[in-house]
Amino acid sequence: TQRVKDQVAFVTGAGSGIGRAAAIRLAEQGAKVCLADLKDSRADEVKRIIEQAGGEAIVADIDVSDPARVSEGIRQTFDRWGRLDIVFANAGINGTWTPIEDMAEEEWDNTLTTNLKGTFLAVKYAIPHMKQNGGSIIITSSINGSRKFSNFGASAYSASKAGQVAFAKMAALELARYKIRVNVICPGAIQTNIGENTEKTPELEKIEIPVKYPEGSQPLEHKAGKPEQVADLVLFLASGESSHISGTELFIDGVESLL
Ligand code: NAD
Repeated sequence: TQRVKDQVAFVTGAGSGIGRAAAIRLAEQGAKVCLADLKDSRADEVKRIIEQAGGEAIVADIDVSDPARVSEGIRQTFDRWGRLDIVFANAGINGTWTPIEDMAEEEWDNTLTTNLKGTFLAVKYAIPHMKQNGGSIIITSSINGSRKFSNFGASAYSASKAGQVAFAKMAALELARYKIRVNVICPGAIQTNIGENTEKTPELEKIEIPVKYPEGSQPLEHKAGKPEQVADLVLFLASGESSHISGTELFIDGVESLL
């Protein structure tokens, strides 16, 4: 039997990496999925993959930092299938990695707005549609927001990711009365395209220190994880198998964060 049969999911950042793998996995297990991502993303390709496998998906062009687009995307999802059970608030950017003294305010704002406000908006606009039947919200933070504070230059990114962890726990407590569960996942290095949108400034060289392990290596598998491995965790948190789990942060990092 399918693990999220006939459930409806709204997935942000669904065009690439972790969001893409999770959307495909949820659809394969019976969910109808709204693939929410920027207009120039590869969400259409993900829709084709899901449909070719016999699943159902729609695409919503949204910028997660734009309240009007987020609320519209969620409304579209609800109108299409008449319910909303799963929200995977996952879209995110690395932003600019640079020493704090060199970081422009705009760079700080851009990272915080996309990663943290984007998460808040997805949750805020999902609640009215989820509170009748309950459901599961999963937020993608990072080990850099919780257990590992050694990526020099990533102060804005880490602050945004730590904010997501705190927000998820508050949301779990507040939304328990609607039987909406909220959990946050903290991946270590995962093989996705996120590095492509990282800008590392030359000033970063002033403070970068040698690391014990080569970048991306992890004690458990000696390599970065795969988006599909994260998708399995998202499926577990979305499904009834995790019905007593809320307000939890789960690390999926091959022990990277304990180095
Ligand atoms: P990715 O770049 O492969 O995918 C991110 C997707 O989010 C892209 O399709 C992009 O278009 C979309 N996106 C970016 N900004 C957006 C916006 N403003 N509105 C809507 N969509 C937007 O990266 P990924 O690694 O799959 O990242 C997904 C999440 O995982 C992020 O929150 C990231 O911080 C987190 N994460 C990734 C890693 C890693 O090593 N890859 C580790 C820890 C946490």
